[in-house]
Amino acid sequence: MKITLLNGPTFNLSQKFGFDIKVVRSPLAKRLTLRIDEKNHRPILTIPRYCSQAKAIAFIESNHDWIVNMLARLPQPKGFSNGESISFFGKNYIVLHTPSQRGTCFEDGFLKVGGEIEFLHRRVLDFLKQQALKKLSELTVKKAKQIGCRVSGVSIKDTKSRWGSCSTLGNINYNWRICMAPVFVIDYLICHEVNHLKHPDHSSLFWEALKNICPNYEEGRHWLKVKGKELYKYV
Ligand SMILES: [Zn+2]
Repeated sequence: MKITLLNGPTFNLSQKFGFDIKVVRSPLAKRLTLRIDEKNHRPILTIPRYCSQAKAIAFIESNHDWIVNMLARLPQPKGFSNGESISFFGKNYIVLHTPSQRGTCFEDGFLKVGGEIEFLHRRVLDFLKQQALKKLSELTVKKAKQIGCRVSGVSIKDTKSRWGSCSTLGNINYNWRICMAPVFVIDYLICHEVNHLKHPDHSSLFWEALKNICPNYEEGRHWLKVKGKELYKYV
């Protein structure tokens, strides 16, 4: 069912309930429904065209425990920390605080991070983004060449709404977190975006062409749907 968003105010209910909630008024909705937006850690309430705020709040109140439960089950946002293992383009590295070192680098299975410990998260984040951009650019240009296309530019974004996008001008954007996904997932995403250089929409032609350059694309797509949210915990 396609939902036309008439408006999408965020009701600030954190004082009342301990969480905020996005309310979407939909002319197609016949009743009030709740779902959890896993990427943004927030419940979304869809209400029919004529529904009072009081009724909406009463509905939230009656589902309060369910919402709290669902939110508690989501991966908690976290930063990078010393000693943790991370995956970068399918290889595992242990983050290792190395105060004497200048800068950040991959070395012998470690991601070595210099400087003060309180800046470790920021340094790992900056480093991964920079390395991800380099690798994603190379792989994207190569893949585009394979299908006889040219990419105008590759950039990374810190978006929570999508994994990648391709503009009509041929610029491809990626969510930087994709660098921590398994290689077959990264490959799927690159193929998907590059394929948009030829097919701007998600028509049946698009999926047919995608199958030619990425035969197991469904596995990558499925992984992002099911496990992608795990990577959103990195903020
Ligand atoms: Zn697409």
